[in-house]
Amino acid sequence: MIIEPKIRGFVCITAHPEGCAKKVADEIAIAKASSIESGPKKVLVIGASTGYGLSSRITAAFSCEASTLGVFFERPSSNGKPASAGWYNTVAFENEATAAGLYAKSINGDAFSNEIKEEVIQTIKEDWGTVDCVIYSLASPRRTDPTTGNTYKSCLKPIGSSFSNTSLDTNKGLVESVSIEPANEEDIENTVKVMGGEDWELWMEALSNAGVLNEDTKTVAYSYIGPEVTWPVYKNGTIGTAKLDVERASRAIHEKYGIEAYVSVNKAVVTQASSAIPVVPLYISILFKIMKAKGTHEGCIEQIVRLFKDRLYEGELNLDSEGRIRVDDWEMDPDIQAEVASIWPSVTTDNLREVSDFDAYQKEFLELFGFGLEGIDYSQDVEVDRPIQSLIS
Ligand code: NAD
Repeated sequence: MIIEPKIRGFVCITAHPEGCAKKVADEIAIAKASSIESGPKKVLVIGASTGYGLSSRITAAFSCEASTLGVFFERPSSNGKPASAGWYNTVAFENEATAAGLYAKSINGDAFSNEIKEEVIQTIKEDWGTVDCVIYSLASPRRTDPTTGNTYKSCLKPIGSSFSNTSLDTNKGLVESVSIEPANEEDIENTVKVMGGEDWELWMEALSNAGVLNEDTKTVAYSYIGPEVTWPVYKNGTIGTAKLDVERASRAIHEKYGIEAYVSVNKAVVTQASSAIPVVPLYISILFKIMKAKGTHEGCIEQIVRLFKDRLYEGELNLDSEGRIRVDDWEMDPDIQAEVASIWPSVTTDNLREVSDFDAYQKEFLELFGFGLEGIDYSQDVEVDRPIQSLIS
């Protein structure tokens, strides 16, 4: 079939397999250009199909030549409808990994469940014995607690008082004001339950109990801090509270299992998760223009290659005062932030494309779903039913 983008709110409900394959190939080329000889050799990525998790899997495989096991929650094609982008990304990743002689297996299912954890452990026991590196890169709007069966929903709300600021309707290119009511206690608890550190701890507990960690295993979960303009809805809001809990979990994991466990604060990038956060897409559009002009712009793959090479495996960790790895350092450069702050109050629908890189934002958003990539003929019929070669379940 001929596949076109169909955008509904913050997501595109269609995806193009050839476009996704091109995007994955582009990331692989970047990863291959940075060889990390002392990198890990057996890497588990939880949330491996899109965004930062996909780039982590690509870096592990193509910079470190590691075997990778990827866990994600994606939709295969059915009734002639295209699969989700993360499904097609994984098809492409596995094809390239296999062609390069690299082990790659995948598990599609709810990473919050005991069943998926058990399946991962069985696979590691049978195929690897132990795991060198565990990347935790889930972004999910809900989580079912495996013990109680209760389902919790996360939300993106300020805490204490309502928040009003400028935001961007990314479909229409309209700069408008947004006002968000504050969270109640339940909102905060639920968001911590979904996006906090509990599930990461459960993963590490299960892996430790199964004896598949080794003394050099490292584990990293991703976080974000960002500029003051987003703090009411991010750092100081419900999601920021959940991220503080991820930092607590990193310390608990280190203490309980004696392994290195880090939170890496990454930069703002265009992903399915970040496009749903109020204010952030406008900030990203302005940020990209400034960072590109300064020559410091990075996407997911450049960030993760730098994390693995310069921080985790070959350089210095350079932990901040809270013990976190910072690869958002170029984003948070005071000169960059001063420029963002000077542009922010003056941005309007009329000058949006002048003062920000909104065109690039929209292009990158479509690329997440395999659309708008160079060299792809979107007028061609394509097969939507594509199997993931080494899908365990
Ligand atoms: P994303 O939406 O691109 O990826 C989310 C991944 O989680 C996908 O692989 C998806 O399949 C998987 N997933 C979701 N629910 C799942 C479930 N129940 N079971 C199994 N897999 C599931 O998100 P992202 O933006 O790459 O975010 C990943 C992490 O990076 C998050 O912790 C996020 O806070 C952090 N981060 C993101 C940004 C940003 O700008 N996007 C910046 C800094 C940090």
